[in-house]
Amino acid sequence: MELIVQKFGGTSLSDEQSRRHVLRHIIREHEAGRSLVVVVSAMGRSGDPYATDSLLELIRGNGNAIPSRERDLLLSCGELISASVLCSLLNAEGIPAVSLTGGQAGIVTDDRFGSARIMEIKTDRMLKHLSDGRVVIVTGFQGMTTDGEMTTLGRGGSDTSATALGAALNANIVDIYTDVDGILTADPRWVSDARPLSAVSYEEICNMAQNGAKVIHPRAVEIAMKAGIPVRVRSTFSDSEGTLVTHARELRSQGIWFDKTVTGLAHVRSVTQLAVINHNGPADLQLRIFRAMASHGISVDFINVMPTGVHYTVSENDTPNAVQLLQGLGFEPKIRKGCAKVSVIGGGMNGEPGVMAVIVEALTNTGIPILQSADSNTTIWVLISEENLAEALQALHKAFGLHLTPDKT
Ligand code: ASP
Ligand code: MG
Repeated sequence: MELIVQKFGGTSLSDEQSRRHVLRHIIREHEAGRSLVVVVSAMGRSGDPYATDSLLELIRGNGNAIPSRERDLLLSCGELISASVLCSLLNAEGIPAVSLTGGQAGIVTDDRFGSARIMEIKTDRMLKHLSDGRVVIVTGFQGMTTDGEMTTLGRGGSDTSATALGAALNANIVDIYTDVDGILTADPRWVSDARPLSAVSYEEICNMAQNGAKVIHPRAVEIAMKAGIPVRVRSTFSDSEGTLVTHARELRSQGIWFDKTVTGLAHVRSVTQLAVINHNGPADLQLRIFRAMASHGISVDFINVMPTGVHYTVSENDTPNAVQLLQGLGFEPKIRKGCAKVSVIGGGMNGEPGVMAVIVEALTNTGIPILQSADSNTTIWVLISEENLAEALQALHKAFGLHLTPDKT
C-alpha cells in the first residue's frame, strides 16, 4: 500500500478557510486508498495566537529568562494545538484519525534543547494506527529524549520532521504543502516573472535553501536525499502538483530533467564584507583570523585567502563582534556593510563553459559591480551591494532565460 507523508506549514493552518484546503488534500489521498502521516506546524505566523513566535512573545517580558528545557515545552505547544484541531476536523468528516506528539510518534532526539537532532524513529506505534486505517497526525518540529523530555528541532524544523518520518516509514513521497506553487526560479517578491519549476534535484534545492530561498529547510532535504525519498513542494491553496525534488539521475530517467544550465537564483541579504590586507604582517595572519572567528562561533562565508590578505563575509548581526575580534588581533579591517550574496544555481552548469561570462555580462551591462565571487560545480555566487539586488536578480533571471522556463505552462 502506498504511504504518503504530508506536511502543512503555518500559513496552511492559520484559519478555518485554509484548514478546509488542508482537509481537501488529506481527503483526496485518503480516498485514493493511501496511508497518510500528516505533519503539522504551528498555526499562522508572528502575531497569530498560537504561532511559534507568538508563544515566544509570552516570555519576552521576562527577559527570556527561561531554561532551555522549559522553553522547548512552551514552543512545542503550537504544533500540539494544530494537531488536535486538525484531528477534530477529520473526525467531523468521518475520517478516522489520531494525533501524536513527536515523542508518541517515536521520534527520539538528543537533549540539545532548541536544536535537537533526531537519533532514531520508532515506527511501530504509527504503523499500528495506519494498519487500523487511521490518518496519523504528528506534531512537527519536536521529539523526545530517551528520558522523556520534550525537545524542539530548531526553527523551521517541521520540514525535518516530515522528511525524517518519510525516511523512517520508507514513504513513497513527502509532500511539503506551503503557500506558493512549488519552487520558483527566484523569489517572486524580487523578480516578478519568476516561474514555478516542475522538478529540481536534491542538490539544487539544497543549494537554494542554504543560500536564502525559504522554500524548505536544508536539513530536511539532506535527510530526504540520504534516504532517496522523493519530495514535492506544492501549494495548499491550489491543485498544482508543485515541484518534484529527487536525484538528478531519477529525474533524467523519468524524462523530466531538462539539463538546464541554470535552474534558479537565490539570495541572502544583510551581509558584511571584511577585508584584511597583509602588508608584511604576521605569516600566520589567516590562521589567527579564522581561529578567532571559529572560537567565537562566527560563521564565515565567501572566503578568499590570498598572499596579500583575506576577504570574507559575515552576517550583519555578527559584524560588531567580528570587527572587534579583528581589531583585538591588531588588524584594521576594511568593512563593507549592506552587501547581498546572489547564488546562480544549476545542476547542469558543471563543465559548461560561459556561465560566469553571462553573469559578468548581465551585471556589467546594468552597471552593477561584483565585489567578490566564488563557485562550485553547481553554483556561482556573487557578492554585490544590496542596493543593486533587485536589478541584479532581474538581469540574471533574464540573462539565463529563466522567465521562459519551458517546463511549466
Ligand atoms: N513552528 C516552528 C517554527 O515556526 C516549526 C516550523 O514551522 O517548521 O519554527
Ligand atoms: Mg514553518
